[in-house]
Amino acid sequence: MSKTVLVSGGAGYIGSHMTQMLRNNGYDVVVFDNLERGNRDATLGAELVVGDLTDRDSLTGLFGNYAFDAVLHFAALAYVGESVNSPDIYYRNNVVGTLNLMDAMRAHNVDKLVFSSTCATYGVPASLPITEKLPQNPINPYGWSKLMVEQMLKDYAVGFGFNSVALRYFNAAGCATDGVLGERHDPETHLIPLVLFEALRMRDGGNENDTGLMVFGDDFDTPDGTCIRDYIHVNDLCSAHVKALGLLQQQEQTGARQFNLGVNRGVSVLEVIRACESVTGITIPYKIAPRRAGDPPELVSDASLAMQSLDWKPEFVDIRDSIEHAWKWFSQHRPDKAA
Ligand code: UDP
Repeated sequence: MSKTVLVSGGAGYIGSHMTQMLRNNGYDVVVFDNLERGNRDATLGAELVVGDLTDRDSLTGLFGNYAFDAVLHFAALAYVGESVNSPDIYYRNNVVGTLNLMDAMRAHNVDKLVFSSTCATYGVPASLPITEKLPQNPINPYGWSKLMVEQMLKDYAVGFGFNSVALRYFNAAGCATDGVLGERHDPETHLIPLVLFEALRMRDGGNENDTGLMVFGDDFDTPDGTCIRDYIHVNDLCSAHVKALGLLQQQEQTGARQFNLGVNRGVSVLEVIRACESVTGITIPYKIAPRRAGDPPELVSDASLAMQSLDWKPEFVDIRDSIEHAWKWFSQHRPDKAA
């Protein structure tokens, strides 16, 4: 029996990969996206409704037109630095927008939600690797906005029997292995794309002294002084969502569940640059810049709970796989950035 699912933010980086995977798994997908930061063509012909979560009327229309079995909620603003300078838009889009979505779901008897949460809810973790049991103390509005939604989901579980799985992503990386989808942020602020743009610039004859690639801080308390993150391939993130959806469909009352999604490996900024050099065969120049506001020194997951409870396993644990797929995409689709 085919199931109809709503993918909010399905024109974005992770949401578009999710839409592709769900359709490949036999789901009927409706994408809801305001296209502010997403790309229409990234939906690859899936049904697309253009609208905004802060517009309750457009949500009422959406839920009136389709009978959804479940919702996968990706639509959100997700730049740590931007959230520090513009917290208002983070709380409006991420918190108020999600509240509107949850209320539209309730009004139409849809009680299954997979939510894109983040390791940024942990702030500077009390210990490493990070398990779900550690206290959550975000250090930026982005992390707070996601933690507030997690709390709303817990309260809706108690008050309304709402079922949800919040997936706390570590750093999403890579792109579809078939080369059809990639990472497209505008502006691009993420490390791997920016390092690969720099590789493209050098490949095309750029001067190393003109590098715009900045390493944000080399004085953190880490072995090489740069920040450490846990990079997880976007396909692995998406396969965990398929499993989470399965959990919600199999169990009558799931309540509000939370899982980390990472590969349990830390990679520093300098190690990312070196891995990009090894994949591309290009020497990539960079400059050391001051620390970026809101960046914790080290975020590495313990994702064993997701592995056990969801029967999920990441396929790509070597960061070079993610870089290789991303490189293939960028070298074909982002020549403009190499100028
Ligand atoms: N970073 C960097 N230079 C950049 C972009 C990012 O040094 O141009 C660092 C950033 O400070 C963080 C890591 O790379 O430690 C990953 O940043 P990204 O923005 O990719 O993801 P985030 O961890 O913020 O979700």
